Amino acid sequence: MPVIMAGPCAVESREQLLETARAVKEAGATVLRGGAFKPRTSPYQFQGLGIEGLRLLAEARQETGLPVITEVMEPEMVEVVADYADILQIGARNMQNFPLLQAVGRRGRGKPVMLKRGLSATIDEWLLAAEYIVAAGNPNVILCERGVRSFDPQTRNLLDLACVPLLHELTHLPVIVDPSHATGRRELVPTMARAGIAAGAEGLILEVHPDPNSALCDGRQSITPTELRTIVHEARLMVQIM
Ligand code: PEP
Ligand code: MN
Repeated sequence: MPVIMAGPCAVESREQLLETARAVKEAGATVLRGGAFKPRTSPYQFQGLGIEGLRLLAEARQETGLPVITEVMEPEMVEVVADYADILQIGARNMQNFPLLQAVGRRGRGKPVMLKRGLSATIDEWLLAAEYIVAAGNPNVILCERGVRSFDPQTRNLLDLACVPLLHELTHLPVIVDPSHATGRRELVPTMARAGIAAGAEGLILEVHPDPNSALCDGRQSITPTELRTIVHEARLMVQIM
């Protein structure tokens, strides 16, 4: 069965997180996502709740039983985030932050690390970044294709689906597709989610919000729990016939 990581871009409040966590669990998600430390393009945008966000994620895990994935942005924070999270996320903007990669490899308490593809990283650069984590002592790396920069502003990024079968040729590491950041548009997410599964991805990561239009971060690309339920159903059917 495909791994379905789902939840809000950012942890915004206790109510928002717990409501979303219950809803994504109900819709069939297997991992809860949520950002406590947010790498925002502008310093004036919501930066996340920090440690309080980590505590809320742990509470949501306690209530739903879903393991939690959340981003770590600085080497100094690796142990703290690893104390709360089940999977550590390295964001696209930090794919080549080598001290951070070494820190999660060495001091991530053995938790799996999901390494998102850099904003315009080649596949070789991405795999060498993964190698930094492995060489530092943690072999449990998951790759996440979240689209790369393109010339066309109609979509946020360009989803490189061919990288999924290619990575399966080049490495044994699991590959997760992120149709939310890859498109930036919620109406494109269901189709690209199916496309990711068709390309052979081991799973998906999806941004889900109970009220996407009021999200503090990435609302334009966030789907509702109801839309998630359909995606989960379709993904399960697809892997059965593949
Ligand atoms: C995220 O997952 O919310 C995120 C910031 O993604 P990326 O690093 O791929 O931009
Ligand atoms: Mn996001």
